Amino acid sequence: MQFIQTRGVDTNKKEKVTFSEAILDPIASFGGLYVPEKLPELGEEFLQKHLKSSYKSMALDMLARFEIDIDPEVLSEAVALYDKFDDASNPVPVVKVKEDLYVSELYHGPTRAFKDMALQPFGVVLSSIAQKRDENYLILAATSGDTGPAALETFKNRANVKVACMYPEGGTSDVQRLQMVTEDAPNLKVIGIKGVFDDAQTALKRLLGSDKFKAALKEKDTKLSAANSVNFGRIIFQIIYHIHSYLELVRQGAITMGEKVYLNVPSGNFGNALGGYYAWKMGLPVEKIIISSNRNNILTQLIKEGRYDLRNNKVIPTTSPAMDILKSSNVERVLFDLFGEQRTKELMESLEKENFYELTSEELAKLQQCFDADWCDDEEGKRYIKETFENDGYLMDPHTATCFKSYETCAKEGIKSIVYSTAEWTKFSPVIANALTGEVDTRDIDALKSISKTANLPIPKMIEELFEKPITQKTIIEKEQIEEEILKFI
Ligand SMILES: *Cc1c(COP(=O)(O)O)cnc(C)c1O
Repeated sequence: MQFIQTRGVDTNKKEKVTFSEAILDPIASFGGLYVPEKLPELGEEFLQKHLKSSYKSMALDMLARFEIDIDPEVLSEAVALYDKFDDASNPVPVVKVKEDLYVSELYHGPTRAFKDMALQPFGVVLSSIAQKRDENYLILAATSGDTGPAALETFKNRANVKVACMYPEGGTSDVQRLQMVTEDAPNLKVIGIKGVFDDAQTALKRLLGSDKFKAALKEKDTKLSAANSVNFGRIIFQIIYHIHSYLELVRQGAITMGEKVYLNVPSGNFGNALGGYYAWKMGLPVEKIIISSNRNNILTQLIKEGRYDLRNNKVIPTTSPAMDILKSSNVERVLFDLFGEQRTKELMESLEKENFYELTSEELAKLQQCFDADWCDDEEGKRYIKETFENDGYLMDPHTATCFKSYETCAKEGIKSIVYSTAEWTKFSPVIANALTGEVDTRDIDALKSISKTANLPIPKMIEELFEKPITQKTIIEKEQIEEEILKFI
């Protein structure tokens, strides 16, 4: 399988690339993205075949049908990491919460958030490509919370890869910070920056574009790569759990094979939703994909009105920070799939130059055949957390809560919904404690204890232990010192 480009081909780029090439250098011609030339068709035959399979063997069969240039042994090793999830025999539990609403829990991995679903196997794949080519890579990450811990966790002690991860000092939750600063592998560097997330992000972008920095790395025989959410090496692992969740509903007798369902996704950069869209195109019976947002509701506007308008929009901090995103990068791959390369290039260039694009009414109709959307503010979200806990006995995090609003406003009665839960309650405990009991300004450790008592749930061991572990990553610097600090580390 080869990969083609969403904005057409620039004369100095190859027309098509392999999976490995798309992973190592994910930015295509004209700033576009790589997409598979043709998706494999799975159909009902695949679903029937895997009704009794494990998560892993279904995953390996799906990956095999992509015919990518990664050895089967490497893929086996990659998906074997799902064995480290809470329940090796079912890494993604699907739980019935209400009559038509099932929650697919994507957070049972080592860092308790959904980034593990893709980053865990991705780490194995990237390291294996680097070893095969006998090259060394530096992965740069800037994080406000979930991506940093998941990237560090997957690359720790892996050959030919180093990670430098920047976070805003004071800008993450205690649990997220501890997950990073207690990592002690020699190939990992965690850097606290005196500033906000945007400072870390801006520093990262500057380094990625700096020829001086690249030359300094070259002297140390190191190349730059990125593990961000436009990387197809992450997307491919995000198709699997949508198929798995559907099969779980069939297994539980909630639906019959072939019956259509809604996939309801709390969205930021649209990687999770894109995985669902590809699963659908490959043959999964889906009624629609419902895109849930917080107050940064640019995707609701796109899907309801056909306009992507950043002109008067600023990111608003919310209690679901992983969705505080306005430039939702993976939407581009849907545009390409629906409207082709020329139109995608036109729309994306308009977004870059004018901060705006608008679909025609025919285009909007096409988009609405696939997607519906709604958004939910923080207060409503807390109400859903409290009510769902009190009425249905189910505890969820603020990202997942946004889906409960769109379930009410978008899903037709009688069609089952799969809501994707992207973080465990332990990652956003102060907000949840506030929702449940009204307590304010609690630190993570107190909120964890309070929720544990109210909900009669144990605090998972790996979270409790974080507060005892020694802090090994102590670097906290001004943003001007980042480059020097990273070169010192390399
Ligand atoms: C990353 C993340 C999201 C958003 O996922 P996308 O694939 O970027 O749309 C939602 N919730 C949590 C907890 C996340 O970490």
